[in-house]
Amino acid sequence: MIGALLRLRLQHSSSKGLAKCSLCGAVETQPGTFPMVVGVGRVCINDGMTKVKCEACGVEVKLITSSKLQGKTLCLADYMKEVEKFRQHIVQSFDEDYEPAVSILERAYRDAPAGYTLLAVRRGRNSTHLWEAEYEKSEIFQMRCS
Ligand SMILES: [Zn+2]
Ligand SMILES: [Zn+2]
Repeated sequence: MIGALLRLRLQHSSSKGLAKCSLCGAVETQPGTFPMVVGVGRVCINDGMTKVKCEACGVEVKLITSSKLQGKTLCLADYMKEVEKFRQHIVQSFDEDYEPAVSILERAYRDAPAGYTLLAVRRGRNSTHLWEAEYEKSEIFQMRCS
């Protein structure tokens, strides 16, 4: 009776907490030891250490430091770049302690990130000296305004 109970418990915990490598199917021996790779899933340490080639810049990186985005293997730097491209809004902070408000407004407008349109400049929440400039991807901005 106790044996049966114990077995049930063990089965339960193993199906719940242990990850399976999404490449070779190996199951981890302790929960949380398999690292997560964006776009790939949890992988075993062996697979995580294999070298993959970034499809954007060609550099070789370990699988665990790479990410998969829309079927492409990317190094961390290129992944960040791609993610940035898809981001619709950007918020930049300016500090009035370092420059006057007028110059912040000017700079927020002049230094808008490429491809983005300034939506608003406003006081940072709960702050007396921080300003936030909000930008929207220009294509989206134009879509909304036409
Ligand atoms: Zn594996
Ligand atoms: Zn790269």
